[in-house]
Amino acid sequence: MVKRNHNFERLEPNYLFKRMLDIAAKYKSVVDLSIGDTSLPIPQEVTEAMERKAQALGTLEGYTGYGMGQGNLELRELLAQKYGRSADEIFISDGAKSDVGRLQLLFGNQVSIAVQDPAYPVYVDTSLLMGQKEIVYLPCTRENNFFPELKKADLIYFCSPHNPTGYAATRDQLTELVEFAKKHNSIIIYDSAYAAFIQNPDCPGSIYEIPGADEVAIEVSSFSKTFGFTGVRLGWSIVPKQLKYADGRLVHPDYLRIATTFFNGASNIAQAGGVAAMQTDCSPLIAHYRENVRILREALKERFVVGGGDAPYLFAYFGGNSWQEFETLLERSGVLAIPGSGFGRSGEGFLRFSALAKRSTIEEAANRLHCYLSPTC
Ligand code: PLP
Repeated sequence: MVKRNHNFERLEPNYLFKRMLDIAAKYKSVVDLSIGDTSLPIPQEVTEAMERKAQALGTLEGYTGYGMGQGNLELRELLAQKYGRSADEIFISDGAKSDVGRLQLLFGNQVSIAVQDPAYPVYVDTSLLMGQKEIVYLPCTRENNFFPELKKADLIYFCSPHNPTGYAATRDQLTELVEFAKKHNSIIIYDSAYAAFIQNPDCPGSIYEIPGADEVAIEVSSFSKTFGFTGVRLGWSIVPKQLKYADGRLVHPDYLRIATTFFNGASNIAQAGGVAAMQTDCSPLIAHYRENVRILREALKERFVVGGGDAPYLFAYFGGNSWQEFETLLERSGVLAIPGSGFGRSGEGFLRFSALAKRSTIEEAANRLHCYLSPTC
């Protein structure tokens, strides 16, 4: 028999969300603000473009098979324009999650990895599965206002606006990050999946707004939260041509090799939707989710809350043990949040609430939270 990949022993048996949903299954009439899944429909211009592409695939003239492994050129050109990069540097993916893990193939399994703590669990889980030995945690706490003290590592996963805290790093903080990476010869994998939610003009939407970032950073991003593509699946990574390994060789050609070896490109229907999305205003969707944030923030006003301003998440301090607080809240109010410690030790005491749910769900949750947090209810 074939031996199991021993790195599975290093993972929690279940991915965080599965563990949480297994607990929630024991309760009735649950109001779900847990997983950051979108609820608004995709704008019509975008679904129509996907429909046209799907129809064309059913005709002799309109049929296309395998596309360019790196992605549809029109889509890459639109993204390149948005970032002030070249289309060659854009790699279209089936979502940021796939790229977060796939990018590690560039560096092998002998690199140290730094992650914000708490963090989107995929950074740590994919690193453990790859067999990385050294994970360096960068605590993001109330004391440091959720921007961590940076520590030396080969790869630094950095997410802004940050899941789960909702904190968006300022220009000065990202400049510090880029300077740190330059000084210590690190490479940043910058996750900007929530960039469209930024309101603070002092918080950049892309790491490439920081001078010199293209020498030290790869950026991963997604159509998921902005255009409701969580089920359609479409994202992109930017690998600058200047980016080098320690021996001076370029990273870019290797990522092209990986993209064309491990992947045959994203769905052509999804990419047609992506082209339309790039020409569609997403602000009505974002405004709707921001109103959800406002409703939840009001309901949580008895608690210290970070986030919400520049991201669709509120990270609220309930004190004590996150898993216990999570279950007490669920048992007494039926509101399903995510225990902050599930994202890392520094999330202890917090619960994460997603504002991406339907308005009716948000309102019901707000009523229940009001009641749960009010001594008189
Ligand atoms: N990056 C972050 C920080 C996320 O929170 C998520 C999803 O929740 C993703 C990436 C995944 O994005 P995608 O749907 O494009 O795979």
